[in-house]
Amino acid sequence: MPHDIQKDMTERALLVHVIVGKQQKREAQNSLEELERLADTAGAEIVGSITQHRPRPTASFFIGEGKLADIQLACRKTDANLVVFNNELSPVQVNNLDLALGIKVIDRTELILQIFARRASSAEAQIQVELAQLQYLVSRVPASVKQHRFHGGIGMRGPGESPFQLRAAPMRKRIQALKKKLVKIQERRKRTRKQRGLPLVCLVGYTNAGKSTLLNGLAAAAAYVDDRLFATLDTKTRLVHVEEGKKILITDTVGFIRDLPHGLVASFHSTLEEVAEADLLLLVLDASSPSVPEHIKVVRETLADIGASEVPSVVLLNKTDRQSAEQHLGGLRRQFGDALSISALRRQGLDEVKKRIAGNVKFV
Ligand code: GDP
Ligand code: MG
Repeated sequence: MPHDIQKDMTERALLVHVIVGKQQKREAQNSLEELERLADTAGAEIVGSITQHRPRPTASFFIGEGKLADIQLACRKTDANLVVFNNELSPVQVNNLDLALGIKVIDRTELILQIFARRASSAEAQIQVELAQLQYLVSRVPASVKQHRFHGGIGMRGPGESPFQLRAAPMRKRIQALKKKLVKIQERRKRTRKQRGLPLVCLVGYTNAGKSTLLNGLAAAAAYVDDRLFATLDTKTRLVHVEEGKKILITDTVGFIRDLPHGLVASFHSTLEEVAEADLLLLVLDASSPSVPEHIKVVRETLADIGASEVPSVVLLNKTDRQSAEQHLGGLRRQFGDALSISALRRQGLDEVKKRIAGNVKFV
């Protein structure tokens, strides 16, 4: 796997963010910061970043020739060996940039795919990641472009072949087989859940909002928590006593994130299938983040996408222990009248959360 970002071979990444059209300055800054965290999560060292405004991208390089020269110079100065675009690039653009810069070029989606691949631990998650990668690849095989045009540098951990060997037909076959496997795993999970007959509560929210920390707090169990994006890939379910004699199942989900290509989101929908079937959603917001309005938007859109808009939900304003939460809390409380303020980390307000759950689900 020559293009996986290996831990022992640190990638020195130069980030490139092209602001196309009219993007708010603050929004652009937040998006770039998120890219930094994604690159960090993937194990890369960030050696610099370049931002450019353009009314529209060029077909050949996405950027103009002047900027291309700037990037080249910056790569030399910083000794970068990876260029990460915050924008989605076409295969042709990746190929052209690769050749022009002589350095591996990847875009945001490929970075995210790598993180998914690295984090997938269960059989189900691994199948989903492979499925996502294959579907993404298939969508990018241009029917008319000869395969050897695929320079080997598209930077993602594929199913074991180098990109120029890939053909759409065998990939489609593999996709079908993986989908079948996935359905079997999911049916099995549904059966076990039904046998238990307990109310199901799902934690949803933007990535890094504090869902896994909250699950740990509620269940006093040790789920994997990490100050990195996508710490949770597998859905994790725990048994929680919300009141004397009242038990529920509570499930952690993979965080939602902005700007995921549609195909990629679709492959992970099956992970989120449980969300639509839940009795109650706990919508966790990082109240200390300046991006919280954008996060709310992404979460709402994703919930609508997976058919979970109608599931009752309780909004939890998390990380209230942080000083930066103070400035947002007033507005958020007004926006969500019955939201609960909590600190998952300090385990503050969790009894209230349990009470609210108990009052909002039916026990048989
Ligand atoms: P997830 O992606 O939504 O599952 O988020 P995690 O539970 O993995 O938390 C992401 C980061 O936020 C971790 O570093 C947590 O320690 C931190 N975090 C979670 N809840 C709180 C909180 O209430 N207060 C503070 N200060 N940090 C928190
Ligand atoms: Mg998590």
